[in-house]
Amino acid sequence: MAVRYFDEKIETMPRDELAQLQLQKLRAMLTELYDKNHFYTTKFKDVGFQPGDLKSLADFSKLPLTTKTELVEDQATEGFAGTNLTYPLSAYTRFHQTSGTTGKPLKVFDTGEDWDWWGRCWGYVLSGAGMTAEDRIFCAFSFGPFIGFWAAVEGARQIGSMFIPGGGRSSLERLHLMRDTGSTVLCCTPTYALHLLEVARDNDFDMSQLKIRTTVHAGEPGANVPSTKRRIEEGWAATCYDHAGASEIGAHSYECRVQPNGIHFNEGEYVAEVIDPDTQQHVPPGEKGELVITNLGRWGFPIIRYRSGDVVISNEAQCECGRTFLRFEGGIIGRADDMVTIRGVNVFPSAIENLVRQHHEVDEFRVTVGKRGEMDELTIEVELVDGSDTERIPLEISQSISSELGLRPKVAAVSHNTLPRFELKAKRFRILDS
Ligand SMILES: [Zn+2]
Repeated sequence: MAVRYFDEKIETMPRDELAQLQLQKLRAMLTELYDKNHFYTTKFKDVGFQPGDLKSLADFSKLPLTTKTELVEDQATEGFAGTNLTYPLSAYTRFHQTSGTTGKPLKVFDTGEDWDWWGRCWGYVLSGAGMTAEDRIFCAFSFGPFIGFWAAVEGARQIGSMFIPGGGRSSLERLHLMRDTGSTVLCCTPTYALHLLEVARDNDFDMSQLKIRTTVHAGEPGANVPSTKRRIEEGWAATCYDHAGASEIGAHSYECRVQPNGIHFNEGEYVAEVIDPDTQQHVPPGEKGELVITNLGRWGFPIIRYRSGDVVISNEAQCECGRTFLRFEGGIIGRADDMVTIRGVNVFPSAIENLVRQHHEVDEFRVTVGKRGEMDELTIEVELVDGSDTERIPLEISQSISSELGLRPKVAAVSHNTLPRFELKAKRFRILDS
């Protein structure tokens, strides 16, 4: 399988040269936004920093961290767009906002140049998965104000692939459009790729009519959850690729064709730091920590030392694909604020998903953490494929979670189509307060 690069020189650059490139880009960006971008100029002045003080990446990590709450509050108090703008609002050509799953949406703004940068970042994602001008990329996504796959449109243009938008239609109609356009690539959330398989089965849609050979996912950790990835690959007869990004950050990580059980972080366009969330000190490669990101090419709406909330383990060893970009083992492991403690056991939702999805009979599931008296209680509802053993399968799921994670969940089968289905950002994990 041929390895493809979006920018071979940068993707395979020795790591010391890469650090110099990052430093150079940082200096140029900080000089540009100092005194123009009110949000960051204020933060820098508060710690007495001027762009000329930046001599090394070590100096850079002395700058204050940025949180999403700060950006949201800035927009709440400073009017429509807030103060994280480097240019007058008339210079911006794109408006988007975060999905708002974890509170008030954050508005993001891009200039024409910033949008080119977004497209470049997506170019790395699509090239990493082997896309070329021969590909037709179908995107099963409702194109609204959430940025989602909008930038993938620009990425596809930059690498010359044909882009087919799949918004404004039902799941079955999407399958028909994929077939009729001879689409070769599917972009959607991992959850939705599984849902489309269910729809195909329930409607006797013949999957062998499709030419999809690659799937590219985002929005949830699923594509790096081994059993979810395997299920997508089997159902679609395709290779499944993960990528990670966010509206306020950009598309920052992607999988290569070697698929070394992890995603590459795009160090040509971003700087990554991994910190201990409590002490805020760097943790070494190989240790779990929170990913802090700086984007280098979105000067109109930059984020600098931004706490992503994503938990990662970094590895700096060169990949077999030739890339020197660091990679995150197992992808994004989870969100720092997603981790729950059940009877003293720390667990990420993705660990439970991995064990539930190993059972092929499970169509959909929902996890609830509640209380029985003073004790935490973990309940898992599963929707099973028709004809499955509704006694045996739940028992097996319960046993595997008990032996792997040391938790004793109550697992129960529920009837078909009782649980919600999701196109974006699945919410399968509920915590009840009482
Ligand atoms: Zn690689």
